[in-house]
Formats: sequence, C-alpha cells, structure tokens
Amino acid sequence: MSQFTAFVQPEMGRIFAALGLDVAYVRAEGNTLYHRDEQGTEIPVLDLMGGYGSLIFGHNHPEIVAHARSLLDANRAVHAQFSLRGEAGRLGAALSEVVRRETSVKEPYLATFGNSGAEAVEAAVKHAELVRVRKVMALADEIAAHTEAARDAVRRGEARLDPDVGRLPAVLAHGPQADGIDGLLAAVEAHNAAAIGTRPLFLALERSFHGKLVGSVQLTYNSGFRAPFQNLGARVRFVPMDRPELLDRIADDERVVLLDTEIDQGRVRIVERDFPAITAFLVEPVQGEGGIHALTTEQGRAIRLFCNKVGTALIIDEVQSGMGRCGAFLASSLIGLRGDYYTLSKSLGGGLAKISAMLVRRSLYEGEFDLIHSSTFAMDDFSSSIAHKVVEMLEADDGQAYRQVTERGARLTGMLTDLRAAYPDIIEDVRGKGLFLGVQLRDQAQARSMVLRGSAYTGSLGYLLSGYLLRQEGIRIAPTGSAGNVLRIQPSAYLTDEEIERLRGALDRLCRILRYEDTLHLVHP
Ligand code: PMP
Repeated sequence: MSQFTAFVQPEMGRIFAALGLDVAYVRAEGNTLYHRDEQGTEIPVLDLMGGYGSLIFGHNHPEIVAHARSLLDANRAVHAQFSLRGEAGRLGAALSEVVRRETSVKEPYLATFGNSGAEAVEAAVKHAELVRVRKVMALADEIAAHTEAARDAVRRGEARLDPDVGRLPAVLAHGPQADGIDGLLAAVEAHNAAAIGTRPLFLALERSFHGKLVGSVQLTYNSGFRAPFQNLGARVRFVPMDRPELLDRIADDERVVLLDTEIDQGRVRIVERDFPAITAFLVEPVQGEGGIHALTTEQGRAIRLFCNKVGTALIIDEVQSGMGRCGAFLASSLIGLRGDYYTLSKSLGGGLAKISAMLVRRSLYEGEFDLIHSSTFAMDDFSSSIAHKVVEMLEADDGQAYRQVTERGARLTGMLTDLRAAYPDIIEDVRGKGLFLGVQLRDQAQARSMVLRGSAYTGSLGYLLSGYLLRQEGIRIAPTGSAGNVLRIQPSAYLTDEEIERLRGALDRLCRILRYEDTLHLVHP
C-alpha cells in the first residue's frame, strides 16, 4: 500500500487502486505527465485534466519556471507581511486593467488575494455581506431618526396619527394599536427588529460549484459535498439556469420590508422600505464541476437585471473559466455579463503558485474590509509575481493566447463533434467553450453488460473509463466533480494536432468498446 493511501487519503487511495488510477507522477512538461513502471522507466501520459483546469500554459512552462527561478535566485522577500506588498500591488493593477478592458467598466477594481478558489469565493461572500450589513445599519439609523421625529411631533401636538395607520398588516400583526403613538411605534419597532434578524440569503445556480470550505460549500449544489455541513452556514437558494422566470418569484418570496415613519401634512404615516435580504447571487459563466454548462447571453442578462432590481451583488466565479480558459480573460465577457465581483484562481498561479483573487468594483469597496480580512500566506510576493507573469503572458501580442485557446478549442471541439456524429448511441453531448470542454456519455442503465449497468447505478462510468484510458491509452481524463458521466477535457493552450488525433483514436476505440459492450477490455486492460 502506498504511503499516500496509508497516511493521507485511505478512501481515495483504495478507489484509485480499484480503477487502475493508482499511479504517482514524477515529472511533467506541457501536456505530458510521467510516471514510472516497475523497471523505473518513465511512462508518458497525455494529461487532459490539466490540473483541474489550472494549467492553461501547461505543466512547468519554461518561461514561468525561469521567472520562478529568478525570484528564488534573487532571494526576493516573500513573506514580508504588514508592509507595502509591491508584487501584490503590481498584480492588482494588472488585473484591474484587464478586467476593465474586457468589461468596458470605467472604474478600477480592487483585489483581495487568497490562496485557493474557495477562499476567493468566501472573501467575496464576506465582502458582500459586509456591504449588506452596512446598508441595514444605515437604514435602521434613518428609520430610528424618523421614528423619534414622529414621536416628538405628536407629543408637541404638531402632528396626529393618520387614521389608517394601524391597518397595515405588518403593524396589525403586532396587536391592536390602542395606545396612540407609543403603541404604534412599539409595533413598528417589533416588526423591524424581527425583519432585521432575518438571516441573509444567497442565490446560486443549480449544478453550481463554488468550493468546499465551510462557507463556500453551502453554495455548491452537489448535496454529497454540502449536506453534511449545511447546518454550519448561510441560507442558499439554488435557481435552475434555464428558468430565469423563477427569479421574479424568488424576489417576491424573499421580500422583507422594514416599516418607516413619515410625517405628511401633519399626519404620521407608516411606509414600507425594502430590506436588503439577499446578499449576493453567485454564478459561474461556464459551470465546470457541475458538468460543463455555459450560461447563455439571455440567461446572463436575466440574472444581471434581477440583481439590479433587488439591489443584490452579482459575484461571477471565474475560478475555473477565467484566465483564458474560454478564449478571453473572463468567460463572462464573452456573453456581455458584468459582475460586481469576480473570483479568479487556478491558471492564475501558472501551475506553480497557489493564488486566488477576489476583485470588486472600487465604488462598492467597503473601506474597512482589508482591516478585518486577511490570511498569512495571501499576497506573498512569490505567488503574486508568478501570477503577474501569467497575466502578462495572456495579454502578450494583443491577446495571442486567447486567440490560440479559441482556435485550439474549435479544433478539439470539431474532433469531438465528429465522434459524437459517429457514436450518437454513446456520446450524448459535446459542450463547453474554448478549452473548457465536456463530453457527456449516455446513461448505460439499460446496457446488457453488468459492468456498465453497475457503473450507471453508482454514477461511476466516467471513473471506470478514466482508469481504462490511462492504462490502455496513456491518456489522463477525469469526469467533472459532480457529474460522473461527463468527461472534462481541459488541456493547455499548446495542445497540438497530434495530441488531438491521439485523443480521437483513443475515444474512437473506447466508443467501440462501449457500443459492443466489450467490457472485458475495460476491466482487464
Ligand atoms: N469555484 C469554481 C468555479 C471552481 O471550479 C472551483 C474548483 N474546482 C472552486 C471555486 C474552488 O477552488 P479551490 O478548489 O481552489 O478551492
């Protein structure tokens, strides 16, 4: 048994062994990973998993490695916390520039750096909640001032209660208003106290994936990941991507009002004020772990309009879809969707650094956020400098990398679409954008082969095929995190025609095996 299985991940280690995925990689370059056979010979594997989408420039890109080396050779200050972090500053400025260009937003973006995708999501969630709480406090102060003004005016005989004032349902709910202004205002205050205590709501899309930390896992749709921990976190409603009309219903369902007092022509009246009940709406422009589903322009527009209408923040999670993966720095810019927040990670680290960023429009930035949110390793100069290098490489030659992703993606999609046409009985769908692609396999629940039926039953078909492709074809592919029948294909921008043809041959043989249910080949390679 490997030490990994014995001391780190016993369950995963056993699954790897069962599927034939129990290999340890020792070296990597471009789209190739190497492991060793029993004789110690290096075996190359074509890596189409691409570090869960974190390798838009491939493994150990020479320019990024050279940059890392130069930082180490120069003994650069890496952990100089509580100082003006030069590299973080340069990276923040570069990210702001790129995002402004792609979104045509005039104002700059401020960056909060972190160490993982989930951390960026949580920073955005915390920031949006801080903004909401500040709004609630300002609203409550305003209402308290109005209430006192009304009480004084009535006591001084300058105003009277409007005869209809006690008939508002929200006021009536707190009992009959027999005792004049004091009774009325007590009912108003009781209503407001209850309303202010409403737990904030977050919206996310069905099939979403936003991370697995205590906060972010609440926003991740897959109940296998979320359910055991749901009592630990925020209130979330999941919205089906293809039913934007439900948004209006949610706005009605979730509407909470505060009662305010106004004096109009000597009459004290009670008016309703909308309470900010929804902290934020989180969306992935292209859902990754949920099975590679791209948001359409129309769906994006409906979400943006909804956020504007209810005054909630739109957090666009580009942790996986950004950094060129879909053919632009932000996949959301391809459908004209603008966010209030962006989260970035994965390829931002160039395959060497662990880094994430949460960007927020400067006018929304809540000044004290950076005083109350921090992490020891965030903003370290090594990761920030590598990420800056990555941004420069993406932006070089007027965005040549983005064009390359689009061109390579089209070529790869063309090949996969050919296969789908040849094997419609096996491949149900080919979808995605740029080099963020998914191949959805048909359900095998009706297969004659017990192996295939069993894998359909346990949702493990994609994993079974991954083991086969690795052992038999030397190709590394994995299903998406929450959809076991969708193979994710996320190579680097340097994917060659030969690599595409290699994949064609391998998938062609695989489809043939599935068509003829020749499953002995799958389990005894
Ligand atoms: N958001 C999205 C869209 C992701 O795809 C992921 C990771 N798959 C995350 C957040 C979480 O990132 P990390 O695994 O680095 O915490």
